[in-house]
Amino acid sequence: LSTWSAVPAGPPDPILGVTEAFKADKDPRKINLGVGAYRDENGKPYVLPSVLKAEEIITASKADKEYLPITGLADFTKLAAKLAYGADSAPLQEGRISSTQSISGTGALRIGGAFLARHYPHSKTIFLPVPSWGNHTPVFRDSGLEVKGYRYFDKKTVGLDFAGLKEDLRNAPEKSIVLLHACAHNPTGVDPTPEQWAEISDICKERGLFPFFDMAYQGFASGNTARDAFALRHFVKEGHQVALAQSFAKNMGLYGERVGLFSLTTSSPEEKARVDSQVKIIVRPMYSNPPIHGARIAGTILGSPELYTQWESEVAGMANRIISMRDKLYDTLTHDLKTPGEWRHIKSQIGMFSFTGLTPPQTKALAEKAHIYMTGDGRISMAGLNGGNIVYFAEGVNAAVR
Ligand code: PMP
Repeated sequence: LSTWSAVPAGPPDPILGVTEAFKADKDPRKINLGVGAYRDENGKPYVLPSVLKAEEIITASKADKEYLPITGLADFTKLAAKLAYGADSAPLQEGRISSTQSISGTGALRIGGAFLARHYPHSKTIFLPVPSWGNHTPVFRDSGLEVKGYRYFDKKTVGLDFAGLKEDLRNAPEKSIVLLHACAHNPTGVDPTPEQWAEISDICKERGLFPFFDMAYQGFASGNTARDAFALRHFVKEGHQVALAQSFAKNMGLYGERVGLFSLTTSSPEEKARVDSQVKIIVRPMYSNPPIHGARIAGTILGSPELYTQWESEVAGMANRIISMRDKLYDTLTHDLKTPGEWRHIKSQIGMFSFTGLTPPQTKALAEKAHIYMTGDGRISMAGLNGGNIVYFAEGVNAAVR
């Protein structure tokens, strides 16, 4: 008998399953709206010109390939924290942000989960929005935290269930940990308004809840990195101590390079040094130290005024193309096709994803009849739409809901 004969087959990843079905479809009109990666106007992956320039600079410098320190490339981590918290952030200026380079956003969440499980003194429970990114639950469960949910999405309005959210956070045990999507909530595309964020901050204060921000889309949501950091910066200004997971997968298109940052705001440089030492103790046995190339790319861009300006306009370009697809989809559905139903959420939602409100049978029909693929919950990646396929997509939706 094989040693592994009792290992049960696990369920397939729901998102990768969509891509497999897409690949197997031979129809030339097929569209894949399952993937969470940006596509350009021609449906192709996009390497940012600022990234290519940074790579040229790195190649020309003939930099060595020595190990990075456990917490990563300091020229990258300092600038990444500045991008998130803002140059005028008090904890940043006072040298009391503990930060460590991570294996993109996922790795930052995992380090954060492990750090909280080991050192957060008050609770071992993290509350996630319902729904949340599918990997949040396993990441935090495997980090040693208990995972619970707070209401977030209202199927009836295809918008934020703000009353439910407030009630659930008020009823959460004091000092629980709360996961907040800083901007461009995945999978719904529904974000709180600045006024609603201020209320959420107040509730977290009242209940002593510990905010853990997941910021996977800074700049990618609105096209402006400062605007997308509003929630995080508001909480910090309000005096919350926060944890933050950052990813450079989307906003720099560095998906496979795995560039991210985990950070915690502390009360003093002395406390920061103690926290740093414990973060190192978590990282060292997991992967020893992070990869160097992607951090060099991000650090080069963030550290050069010229490349930084270029990058900001490239991020805005991606965000604006997505926003224009939202406008075009809305107009085609409501004006051209007179599709039954209310579609305003397509325009009010933000970021890469949109919860369309399509039902599982409708998404199935779209795959079978129109060769259009998305996750069964009706989430589409807006980046998969372009001038060449958007009318065909709208016609498919129109047929599916009639
Ligand atoms: N958080 C959220 C909400 C995400 O959507 C993603 C990417 N899909 C991530 C974290 C992490 O992605 P990565 O590890 O590629 O940075």
